[in-house]
Amino acid sequence: MAEGYCNKCKLKKEIVDAVEVLMKNGRKAIKGKCSTCGSVIFKITGGKTNQMKVDDPPQKFSDSL
Ligand SMILES: [Zn+2]
Repeated sequence: MAEGYCNKCKLKKEIVDAVEVLMKNGRKAIKGKCSTCGSVIFKITGGKTNQMKVDDPPQKFSDSL
């Protein structure tokens, strides 16, 4: 389950009904609801730095070479 910052609770909360959306600038985001208060949480997941961390497997790569 994804977690995001809820503006209403002022805390990190579990996102329910989370759907992945693609923003106009090509970044991915998760849109859903706070598990506690039900207000909308929008979390950017496809940021430039984030994506590198997820997609780059440096250790595995050097092993196979
Ligand atoms: Zn909340």
